[in-house]
Amino acid sequence: MKNIDWKHLPFQYSKTDYNVRCYYQDGKWGELELSSSEFVELHMASTCLHYGQEIFEGLKAYRGTDGKIRLFRIEENWKRMQRSAKGIMMQSPPFEIFEKAIITAVKKNKEYVPPHGTGATLYIRPLLIGLGPEVGVRPARDYLFMVFVTPVGPYFKDGFNPVDVMICRDFDRAAPLGTGAYKVGGNYAASLLSLKIAHDGGFATSLYLDAKEKKYIDEAGPANFFGIKNNTYITPLSKSILPSITNMSLMALAEDMGLKVERRPVGVDELDSFEEVGACGTAAVITPIRKIVDTDNNKFYDYSNDNKPGPISTQLYEHLVAVQFGDEEDKHGWVRILD
Ligand SMILES: *Cc1c(COP(=O)(O)O)cnc(C)c1O
Repeated sequence: MKNIDWKHLPFQYSKTDYNVRCYYQDGKWGELELSSSEFVELHMASTCLHYGQEIFEGLKAYRGTDGKIRLFRIEENWKRMQRSAKGIMMQSPPFEIFEKAIITAVKKNKEYVPPHGTGATLYIRPLLIGLGPEVGVRPARDYLFMVFVTPVGPYFKDGFNPVDVMICRDFDRAAPLGTGAYKVGGNYAASLLSLKIAHDGGFATSLYLDAKEKKYIDEAGPANFFGIKNNTYITPLSKSILPSITNMSLMALAEDMGLKVERRPVGVDELDSFEEVGACGTAAVITPIRKIVDTDNNKFYDYSNDNKPGPISTQLYEHLVAVQFGDEEDKHGWVRILD
């Protein structure tokens, strides 16, 4: 194991020993290549540089008490990468390449998979880019699929502690018929300015509303939104939300816990009625929300509960993390143990 201060890791890139690459050229995928370089050589007329042909995924490797390394629902990440690729006309790798690239990247860097109990994990970042040369607007002919890994701590620096978020009325992340449901870099570019405004105001992230009517909750920056009331887990249904695998898993765990689950439009006017609200995603896991501020209406919604996460969010969080780290039976078959 590397000599790293695992308990105080930020959510930041740090160098590991290897990454894995695979090129799509002449209409077919090549062999996986192991690289120890952090750099990519690109043609300056690559479509990823000009026309936004870039998609990515995010998942984590977890080390259990048994010392074994686990992956969580990797098939879902592959399916989503395929959907994202289709959405912006890219070639995406078949499952065998996706899976082998991820497993190779993790195994070759296994010394960087944080020890159990530190709260840290190995973040895995698969990405796919269109290569050049093209100057006209059209999809690339060639593609590069890469996987790199980096050990990380919690995404929101407070970990499983409540944060404040700001409703974003002056910006949209994605349009109803745009690319919000695809994990494309362009959605993040569109979010940077509003994120900066949120950060400057002391908020962990901005909460986006539906772009058309500005009446419904979409999602929270890089994480989906959920609310709890009357023993029900409620999460927005919208065409411009990125379908989160964490959220999908929480819906199943909520049902296991005897909660009702609803996926439907969630109006801003419903915020008052929630007992608990939170953001969820691979990086954020569950981040409880303490306060939602709507600066335009000068309104705020308070869920502070003595500054502690709410009881149901806490149970969901503990349940999810226990499955991911192998501390609890994996009854849905979500976890893959690496040998
Ligand atoms: C990746 C992502 C999420 C979280 O999805 P998970 O599969 O749970 O990691 C949520 N929203 C956006 C915009 C994302 O890009």
